[in-house]
Amino acid sequence: MAARPILTTSLSTFSRRAYSSKADKNVAFLGLGNMGGFMAANLVKKGFNVTGYDPSKETLTAAEKNGIKRANSIAAAVESANAVVSILPSNKVVLDAYLGKDGVIKHAQKGALLIDSSTVDPNVPKEIFPIAIENGVGFIDAPVSGGVMGAQNATLAFMSGGRKGDFDRSLPLLQAMGAKQFHCGDVGAGQVAKLANNMLMGITGMATAECMNMGIKMGLDPKVLLDVLNNSSARSWSTEVYCPVPGLVPTAPSSRNYDGGFKNELMVKDLELASGMALGIRSPIPLGAVATQLYRIVQSRGYGQKDFSYVYQLLKEEKK
Ligand code: NAD
Repeated sequence: MAARPILTTSLSTFSRRAYSSKADKNVAFLGLGNMGGFMAANLVKKGFNVTGYDPSKETLTAAEKNGIKRANSIAAAVESANAVVSILPSNKVVLDAYLGKDGVIKHAQKGALLIDSSTVDPNVPKEIFPIAIENGVGFIDAPVSGGVMGAQNATLAFMSGGRKGDFDRSLPLLQAMGAKQFHCGDVGAGQVAKLANNMLMGITGMATAECMNMGIKMGLDPKVLLDVLNNSSARSWSTEVYCPVPGLVPTAPSSRNYDGGFKNELMVKDLELASGMALGIRSPIPLGAVATQLYRIVQSRGYGQKDFSYVYQLLKEEKK
């Protein structure tokens, strides 16, 4: 899918404004996995009526325990919903779910608002948007940052692309699931922001692993080295919150055997999406390209399910 630049008509806005119109109470939720399960549960907690669909029966059963009404198809989930939220694994799954013959657009109520929070190629929402409008429904892309913890604690950051009116209308839902909501521009702009964020996160993660490994191998006390970095010009989210060296930041995935974080395979997926986007506009991404290769090596060695900070273990293993 060749990337095209996004024409933005509005500057990034950070909005905490209260929503004054009547909220969309009946919500269909598609994709109740690691992220969606918690996000849908938070909508229920905030008083929305949520009907969920996921092809995994076990996932649906788990969601029912959180007050989500079970639907056995996309059509059944969306037919009486004012709003649809989805968070799905890939470009293809999102395109099929929205544009397929049994998909969202075919079965959604006229006037419904569709919100896709999956991380996908920016051309995916751009393909869906005009078809949604033609069929009398609104559509925004609203990918998220903050991981599974953010989904669980309703502290996600949403980066949205779409018409300002649709973004404003989405706010009661986004505020029920997250702490920050950005309107980044026209449809697809949320995905551009998300891919830029994740590419930078991948690069700083890799760089932190590399420098911590070097310093520790030179004999520095890991705690002292991390303290220096966190109080110097190299400080970043990776050093402060997500240190790849086990035992230094108790809440980081590295301190729980690299489980329960942002899977390496999802990092590879996002870096490949970012690479495709950059290629389409001939934007040089030398560091993004190296990061893509390095995380791919981690995956090919069988650690795709581990948090992406596992890259530290790979670097540590290399012998002199
Ligand atoms: P996941 O694999 O845990 O969940 C995806 C769910 O979608 C699964 O339960 C799957 O059965 C379901 N699904 C597949 N096809 C479907 C369909 N046609 N209709 C409805 N449901 C369907 O993945 P996840 O970690 O929840 O990630 C989902 C998306 O969120 C991805 O695009 C990912 O890049 C993005 N994301 C993930 C994180 C994270 O930390 N996990 C953070 C930010 C963004």
